[in-house]
Amino acid sequence: MADLTHPKVHASWETRGYWEGAARGELVLQRCRACTTVQHKPRGVCATCLSGDLEHVVASGRGTVYTFTVTHQNQAPPFAAACPYVMAYVQTEEGPRILTHIVGCDPEAVQIGMAVVADFQPQERTDGEQFAVVRFRPAG
Ligand SMILES: [Zn+2]
Repeated sequence: MADLTHPKVHASWETRGYWEGAARGELVLQRCRACTTVQHKPRGVCATCLSGDLEHVVASGRGTVYTFTVTHQNQAPPFAAACPYVMAYVQTEEGPRILTHIVGCDPEAVQIGMAVVADFQPQERTDGEQFAVVRFRPAG
């Protein structure tokens, strides 16, 4: 079972804080200064109140598996080499649920409610950017 090979990240002005945080080993989320909603995915406005007054905050990186699926067959590269792999929604402590994948354990060991922590897969790049892909692994 190999790691998933993700496409090269292209950071927009909305997502750059998230990707650069991941490169530092930090899960960076957005918080609205107007209504305090914490959101993910990164956007130009608050999804709750449409305010543009957003700040980036470093989240704890801790969460629980909200739901998941184990993929045993996927012929599309680079997924084939990664089978079986776990796609999941992780409920973060700060509120947002993140679509991600679970690494660092037997896929059959993943359970709803399992405690997980953010894990960061740096991308090899030649353009001078430093980004990482956020995934989660069992806590402890
Ligand atoms: Zn808001």
